[in-house]
Amino acid sequence: MSDDRVLIAGAGPVGLVAAAHLAGAGVPVTVFEQGSGLSEESRASTFHPPTLDMLDTLGATESLIAQGLKAPAFQYRTKKHGLLAEFDFAAIADATRHPYRVQCEQSKLTRILYDRMRGHPNFDLQFDSTVAGVSQTASGVEITIERNGHTERHAGRYAIGADGASSIVRRSLGVEFEGFTWPDRLLVVSTPFDFHSVIPGLTSVNYVADPERWYFLLQIPGLWRVMFLVNEDASDERVQTREFAQTLMSGVVPGISNYEIDHITLYKVHQRVAKTFNVGRAFLAGDAAHINNPLGGMGMNGGIHDAANLAQRIAAVWKGETPESELERYDKQRRLVTLEYIQKYTIQNKKNLESSGDEFRESLAAIKADAARTHDYLMRVSMITSLARAEELG
Ligand SMILES: Cc1cc2nc3c(=O)[nH]c(=O)nc-3n(C[C@H](O)[C@H](O)[C@H](O)COP(=O)(O)OP(=O)(O)OC[C@H]3O[C@@H](n4cnc5c(N)ncnc54)[C@H](O)[C@@H]3O)c2cc1C
Repeated sequence: MSDDRVLIAGAGPVGLVAAAHLAGAGVPVTVFEQGSGLSEESRASTFHPPTLDMLDTLGATESLIAQGLKAPAFQYRTKKHGLLAEFDFAAIADATRHPYRVQCEQSKLTRILYDRMRGHPNFDLQFDSTVAGVSQTASGVEITIERNGHTERHAGRYAIGADGASSIVRRSLGVEFEGFTWPDRLLVVSTPFDFHSVIPGLTSVNYVADPERWYFLLQIPGLWRVMFLVNEDASDERVQTREFAQTLMSGVVPGISNYEIDHITLYKVHQRVAKTFNVGRAFLAGDAAHINNPLGGMGMNGGIHDAANLAQRIAAVWKGETPESELERYDKQRRLVTLEYIQKYTIQNKKNLESSGDEFRESLAAIKADAARTHDYLMRVSMITSLARAEELG
């Protein structure tokens, strides 16, 4: 196998989107994944309109829609006021081919992409291969892999670290992960309970503000995921018990308790951005480059936007269409919009949900009352504005 290829650490949604773009554009790639198969973890479940547009160019959107749920609208509520506002993505049908969110687990996307790419002559995915470090050479990069107790070295022209929040690529490049970790933790409880049957007019995506216990409700095929922020002084073990989860769930719909629970998962919540997304011929993308709270569903979506931006740039340089200096624009564009949009608005979304909802209600009412403001608002929450801003950065 030729060494003239792009080496990618991690076969999560970001690594596989980068690989599919590159291989499809004629650039040979090898993806190294530490797991013995694709991750089954259910984390991201919301795909935004421009992400669906991008995945469509890889032939993945139709299958994602078939395996997920279309969510044309979302709602904000408070425990105190009930429904505050509902927004319908039809208002931005002029700006996207997919004016809705798709609710589908990220583990379905990775399987769709892998099934499409398997057997492609430019695509190689190696499981049980843990990336242990990356170094720069005179003509490219070298990645060290640990596999079956052996250490191997693989040369390539470029490297992409898409190896998640604890990225070895980022550490090995000596890039700082600036930011902070919230003291509170996120508890995700999944239930097959049909919330539509007890909350009239409920949409598949709902954010419920409350100063004491906010939560959000997300529907995926066959399940609802209820996400709570846990700030009490209880151990991780205690928080993940069914008893604790039932106590939180009993606050969702008055009079309903003792839910059937499928999964309980606890996460730490961070807001961090790598000091740079690019060192020499190595790049960082997705959670390896930035992590944020899940309010607004911007982590994986932003990572897919990184992957598309970077892969298209590398492909253009590979084919001699643009000079190598064009690659510098990846860091310039994607790091800035991560700070200006993803970090800023996920923090703002958390503040809104932690509030009493009084001011939030007024600001949402003002947006709803004005068609131009509604359009701008939906362009922002669907992340189309952040992509336009990246382009503006030249
Ligand atoms: C509860 C929850 C809900 C979320 N909901 C949303 C949402 O709705 N929308 C959204 O946009 N985002 C959401 N996110 C964030 C989203 O899950 C992440 O942003 C996304 O998984 C990032 O994808 P990635 O490919 O960068 O990293 P990952 O998904 O972490 O994938 C990294 C891959 O690299 C592999 N790997 C790691 N280290 C190595 C190594 N050394 N060598 C080789 N392979 C390695 C891992 O095994 C894994 O397969 C949510 C997160 C949580 C916790």
